[in-house]
Amino acid sequence: MRNKLADILSEKGIVDNAVLEAIRAVPRHLFLDSSFEDHAYQDKAFPIGADQTISQPYTVAFQSELLQVRPNHKILEIGTGSGYQTAVLLKLKARVYTIERQLELFKKTNLFFKKMGYRPKKVIFGDGYKGLPEEAPFDSIIVTAGAPFVPNPLLAQLKVGGRLVIPVGTDEQVMTLFVRKSAKEFEKKELGSFRFVPLLEDKN
Ligand code: SAH
Repeated sequence: MRNKLADILSEKGIVDNAVLEAIRAVPRHLFLDSSFEDHAYQDKAFPIGADQTISQPYTVAFQSELLQVRPNHKILEIGTGSGYQTAVLLKLKARVYTIERQLELFKKTNLFFKKMGYRPKKVIFGDGYKGLPEEAPFDSIIVTAGAPFVPNPLLAQLKVGGRLVIPVGTDEQVMTLFVRKSAKEFEKKELGSFRFVPLLEDKN
């Protein structure tokens, strides 16, 4: 089923073989509540509790491809959620730091990582808008919730040459790629519309 899913994603335009290999390898059904397990290899988003969703596989693959992950890259993920995107990045041999603002999901997914032997460098309960200054700079930063605006700390925490992949917008988001060209210059590219749950500002 995972091979089939990878084929579908390839037909939809994903070309990075390492990303497709990661999709073939990561058992997505284990990241879903058992009631959705049967559907795990459809190219769809599903609820994961606390009003959140596991991103659609195409979206995970699309964002992962944009990051141009290389082994040992230091990556910051905003929005741990189910941990599926984290697992894909780990499969790509990145060193992953991931932040989740909902306590319930943070606890659940942290336990799940331990149980499964997934080893992100750090799983943090906190506010992704601030990034993770104490671990900066990063080779890339991925935001997996819809951001109403681009948080400046995330741009500031990129290495020169580093990439920020962030869906920007409220009802609908435009997938946006920033590449840091120098200390002060960023190149920006917009890459189509997506729908994410919102990146929330205040803890509540
Ligand atoms: N990468 C996840 C996608 C989960 S949906 C996966 O593969 O399953 C987005 C996640 O972002 C949710 O878990 C949500 O709680 C979290 N989130 C929302 N606002 C946030 C913020 N300000 N900081 C960190 N995480 C946030």
